[in-house]
Amino acid sequence: MTERKIIPFKKPVDPFTKGAKERWSKIPEWAQTKILENVFCTGCSTSTSIILESAKMQKADLILRGKCKVCGHEVCRLVEPEN
Ligand SMILES: [Zn+2]
Repeated sequence: MTERKIIPFKKPVDPFTKGAKERWSKIPEWAQTKILENVFCTGCSTSTSIILESAKMQKADLILRGKCKVCGHEVCRLVEPEN
């Protein structure tokens, strides 16, 4: 009998902090998509999609950070509080 080795799957890293996740979950899915697909990239000089790497709360704002899907430039998106 051979020894069975369990190869651990690398879990995708959750970019959201607890607070950010709570805030993000309150945003409707269509709006989430809109946010992620309308991030201004200084490399492209236009709005592109973000590859999300981190999301955290900064006071009342949700800060999304990541890379431009097109050129890989670092991009940041601020989601203002509701109301
Ligand atoms: Zn870009």
